[in-house]
Amino acid sequence: MTFSDFSLAPQLQSAVRRMGFDEPTAIQQEALPPALAGKDILASAETGSGKTAAFLLPIMERLLPMQRGATRALVIAPTRELAAQIAEHFRELAAGTRLTCAAIHGGVAMGAQERAFRKGVDMVVACPGRLLDHMRNVYADLSGIEYLVIDEADRMLDMGFLPDITRILAAVPRDRQTFFFSATLPPAIVELSRKMLRNPARLNIDRKPAPPSSITHAVFPVPSDRKSSLFLELLGKGISGSVLVFTRTKHRANRLADFLDKNGVQCARIHGNRSQSQRTAALAGFKQGRYQVLVATDIAARGIDVEALGSVVNFDVPHQPEDYIHRVGRTARAQLKGDAYTLVSPEEERDFDAIERALGHRLPRQKMEGFDYTSRPAERTAERAMERTRERPQGRKQGRQQERPREEPRSRAQSQSQPRHRSGGPAFRRGR
Ligand code: AMP
Repeated sequence: MTFSDFSLAPQLQSAVRRMGFDEPTAIQQEALPPALAGKDILASAETGSGKTAAFLLPIMERLLPMQRGATRALVIAPTRELAAQIAEHFRELAAGTRLTCAAIHGGVAMGAQERAFRKGVDMVVACPGRLLDHMRNVYADLSGIEYLVIDEADRMLDMGFLPDITRILAAVPRDRQTFFFSATLPPAIVELSRKMLRNPARLNIDRKPAPPSSITHAVFPVPSDRKSSLFLELLGKGISGSVLVFTRTKHRANRLADFLDKNGVQCARIHGNRSQSQRTAALAGFKQGRYQVLVATDIAARGIDVEALGSVVNFDVPHQPEDYIHRVGRTARAQLKGDAYTLVSPEEERDFDAIERALGHRLPRQKMEGFDYTSRPAERTAERAMERTRERPQGRKQGRQQERPREEPRSRAQSQSQPRHRSGGPAFRRGR
């Protein structure tokens, strides 16, 4: 199958050719026909599957013949990075057209975003909190929306955005075409999708999420306090190319990045305590190859789109199997090969067992020849003390996940008048 099998405008056909998309990915093959026919879409698809073009292309096809000057499409995404990337993807696909798009998210001034609303850009890609901030003003009028996309719905619910989404939905016309994307479909998501969609085409719904088969998994059992040194050793001897490293917490991300800096590794970091400009600079430097390593937490890395990412390293084992699948799915993008390394301390074996059960098979354990795996009592004590003092959960429901989203700083007036649904720390982990 090729893109010319779809009834897409010549400008969009040349855009996908220019971007090097030879053939549509699975989700694009499934989504484009019903979407172009005007049907609602419910899809379980992950970052890396080509889902962005799967909703952008049909919407752009519909927007092309329309008059400019009114916003007709709205995409809601959980994080700043994802919103910015979707807007960037739109601009690349729109290069041969006059279609316009704006990313609306926190961490940057409101002025340019207000101008985009007033100009009536064709598509707005927004994070929920900042969109609601704008919606307090008359210029942010969503009554002309004909196409609505909810991207990474499961992550938005995990981040506590359900009340925000409900308020946004109330301002969008019911008569519209809706695209609903979620990597996983727990009951709360199914319930939300039922409220939002009319007789949708259901894509990939029954397929168990699984990492792409082109990923090679390597698992290194190692004492917790030897992880940094082992990672350094792996960088020297095994891992090459760009590496995205996941840590469990912001503090562990900082600590690892400091260690790598000290040992001469070009390294950037991205997590919830970094300002928007720091995050943007880190991501840009990593994409340009200025930094070999990007250390990130799950929330901050959500949706990061880096071409030709050679390896993903789970410096800490994720608590949920689906997070493992999300993380390692960042490599082996668009049918390329990739490597996933996981450092497993004895305390993490149980979480890792659950991941292997979800994958349906055991992953090979490896040992780095010549590496000293002996735990250092002093380092272990320092690590424990640090974990106790710096990483104490802040909310009753927060459990073991410590990072809170910093996507959408709310205005003071609003945070006083709204229920503070995120103030006690969101339940990031389902069922916790
Ligand atoms: P997404 O899942 O939308 O974040 O896309 C993941 C990556 O795949 C992005 O870098 C896209 O530019 C790329 N991509 C999307 N569709 C295709 C395609 N049909 N062929 C090759 N690459 C694609």
